[in-house]
Amino acid sequence: MEPDPATTPTSGTAAAASSSLIFLGTGCSGALPDTRCLIKPSTPPCAVCSTALSLPPDRNPNYRLNTSLLIDYCHNDGTHKYTLIDVGKTFREQVLRWFVHHKVPSVDAIILTHDHADAILGLDDIWVVQPSNGENDADQIPIFLTQFTMDSIAARFPYLVERKQEDGDEDARGALLDWKIIEDDVNKPFTSSGLQFVPLPVMHGEGYICLGFLFGRRARVAYLSDVSRFLPSTEHAISKSGAGQIDLLILEANGLHGVGGHPRSTHLTLSQSLDAIKRICPKKALLIGMRHEFEHHRENQMLAEWSRREGIPVQLAHDGLRVLIDL
Ligand SMILES: [Zn+2]
Ligand SMILES: [Zn+2]
Repeated sequence: MEPDPATTPTSGTAAAASSSLIFLGTGCSGALPDTRCLIKPSTPPCAVCSTALSLPPDRNPNYRLNTSLLIDYCHNDGTHKYTLIDVGKTFREQVLRWFVHHKVPSVDAIILTHDHADAILGLDDIWVVQPSNGENDADQIPIFLTQFTMDSIAARFPYLVERKQEDGDEDARGALLDWKIIEDDVNKPFTSSGLQFVPLPVMHGEGYICLGFLFGRRARVAYLSDVSRFLPSTEHAISKSGAGQIDLLILEANGLHGVGGHPRSTHLTLSQSLDAIKRICPKKALLIGMRHEFEHHRENQMLAEWSRREGIPVQLAHDGLRVLIDL
């Protein structure tokens, strides 16, 4: 596969002068390892989850936390702004693991895709990444979400919305969040930390809409973490045969087996994701949201063959992956 200069993986200091995407989590809602595979191991044991017993997470691409992306946007003056997409159940572990590793000091904005537990339940811990304005006072973090997600969060985290101190623990303080309502409409873009985002509504189970996002002026990136069916307006906005070829498609592939299409399915299977990649035809694609049927190296070998055949480079992403990209 030819390396693509617009989306070159790195873990080095080159990131200091460039924008990049940091994959904070590439797993399913339950996260990996699946605890059941460790406390009640099958015979033979689950090959994917049992690697968590022998390898540290930073060297184990099968160790996958809740799907989440951090966009490190380098402005023309060299300052970096960090936009976080989704704050799931495993957010604290992701901060400890990848914010430290990639030297990310704080989060400047948050965007939420939908109101499921693996996208929002870490909001209670957001105060630890709140930027400080240097006077022992924290800056508000803008958080972009639909009214539907806002109503759900108001019911589950009233203290974050009403900005009341939680009782009992003096060390824990509520985050200061500036709630910004966005619409599930590809014609209603919004701007976060100087970068424009186009909402990409998709079905996530029939009767439920989840948002993906299209962003980047130079390299254009589409991020779709939870999809069961594409809406025509969204597919047009990111397709080569529609509004134009995008540079990178980040798309979920939740299940390895089966062809999907069950009326109650809420996610794409791998074969559905690959079909969608062929239709959309990006320059390159990375897969996220994988359950424990996916063994990283085995599936990436299979995908390398698929990529040679179809002419679109596709690989599984992994937690901690940082991709330099000219946004
Ligand atoms: Zn397992
Ligand atoms: Zn979901």
